[in-house]
Amino acid sequence: MAKELKYTGKTKMYINGEWVDSVSGNMREIVYPCTGEVITKVTEGSAEDVTLAVDAARSAFDLGEWPGTPAAERGRLIERLADKVEENRESLARLESLDTGKTVEESRWDMDDIAGIFRYFGQLADKEGGEIIQSPNPNTSSLVVREPVGVAAQISPWNYPLLQASWKIAPALAAGCTIVMKPSEITPFTTIRITELAEEVGFPKGVINLVLGAGDTVGSEMTTNPGVDLVSFTGGIVTGKKILKAAADTVKKVALELGGKNPNIIFADADFDTAVDFALNGVFFHAGQICSAGSRILVEEPIREKFTAELKRRIKNIRIGDAFDPETQMGPLISEEHRNKVKSYIDLAKKEGASIVCGGTEPENPPDKGGYYYLPTLISDVHNDMRLAKEEIFGPVITIESFSTEEEAVTRANDTIYGLSAGVWTRDQDRAQRVSSRLRAGTVWINDFNVYFVQAPWGGYKQSGSGRELGKVGLEEYTEIKHIYQNYANEPINWFGT
Ligand code: NAD
Repeated sequence: MAKELKYTGKTKMYINGEWVDSVSGNMREIVYPCTGEVITKVTEGSAEDVTLAVDAARSAFDLGEWPGTPAAERGRLIERLADKVEENRESLARLESLDTGKTVEESRWDMDDIAGIFRYFGQLADKEGGEIIQSPNPNTSSLVVREPVGVAAQISPWNYPLLQASWKIAPALAAGCTIVMKPSEITPFTTIRITELAEEVGFPKGVINLVLGAGDTVGSEMTTNPGVDLVSFTGGIVTGKKILKAAADTVKKVALELGGKNPNIIFADADFDTAVDFALNGVFFHAGQICSAGSRILVEEPIREKFTAELKRRIKNIRIGDAFDPETQMGPLISEEHRNKVKSYIDLAKKEGASIVCGGTEPENPPDKGGYYYLPTLISDVHNDMRLAKEEIFGPVITIESFSTEEEAVTRANDTIYGLSAGVWTRDQDRAQRVSSRLRAGTVWINDFNVYFVQAPWGGYKQSGSGRELGKVGLEEYTEIKHIYQNYANEPINWFGT
């Protein structure tokens, strides 16, 4: 591995203001997906470490000053964290690429988004007050206040490690919660680094705690520990269901951001070149490892052939390579295990009678033999009853189906257990509005794909999740609502006599 790709950062957890090794002393190897080489080892936590972290977060919430710190002061600290992200943009981006294998340019965009997320929630911290409501009873008043929910356990995935973590950390801190954060065990670098930057900013001891380790040990304890009030999880649907069940015994609040099988509907009157371009952008960024990827293309029958041919032509030009090579347009998959999962869907496609238009294999001459590269793949002759069309592949794979009527497009787009995002391409404004209002998805893009910004809420319908991140509602998720009622009358009612 090139010298510049060495990891020199911290390898520990952060509990109650101290950098610590796990109680067990176990370590985990972290691998660079572009070469398969071990970059470093980081400490591997267990349930015991989570207990310590939750205790620290609990004390900081119950006995510490953080929840009562003026919201504007909390906001200022969060904004200073935004400054830190901006100051460290390049090194954070490189760290993210080292961990995930995504191109450095993509990681730079992520860092800009992340700075914006801390900035937005920092500024929102003191804007979310309570409200006085009209009491129905004379000589009384009613006040509705929002209070921080308490200790938030936050579990994030490997595809956008710091971005997904920032969607959780920023609003939780703004609301006055204390947190225990766990990144994916395979991509901990930038979450470790943001914790270090938060320490420099000066958040009080115990407010931010970082645990490292596997989902079924560390993650599982985070979802069952009675000291946790809320679990915010981003990851796969199977894990999400486990978490919902695990959190039930202590009736924690649970927010879930799960996967998608997102339709991208292209009508024949759409701007052809733009629709093709965004069909590619919608899937092949980060090798398709994006929850909102437009992995199911539904194209109107008259342009099916032309659209398929143009997609194929452009897919073949996609440059696969190392994350740090500026020529690279698409990096590898995250791990061998994940590449095997993607391969198994290609085998399934063949068994189910679909046709591989292009890709469908590892590259013949991969940029590095040890990297987890896979060719961008287009599959046609796909029907909604195939598993291929139903399950999230989470790789550089698009399926293409055709439709004949608007009704059919909507029905097929909605024929999924998921409901995260969807796209509609047409020049007909009435149709665009009609279709988007009928799509059962948390985000619908008209003549665009995969755009998101911090001011607008993000989340899924159906089995793509519950709750919302980002926007004002993203902050409200970390609050409890309390109604305070006051009676000024001082008059007994004497129901039980005098
Ligand atoms: P995953 O479910 O395997 O893991 C996510 C996190 O959960 C990891 O930190 C993991 O250690 C932890 N975990 C695993 N088992 C656990 C358990 N039993 N209890 C508690 N925690 C546990 O997901 P992944 O493979 O890291 O990420 C990919 C998935 O994330 C995809 O399905 C993708 O669609 C989804 N995702 C969704 C969004 C969104 O905004 N909806 C964003 C990014 C990724």
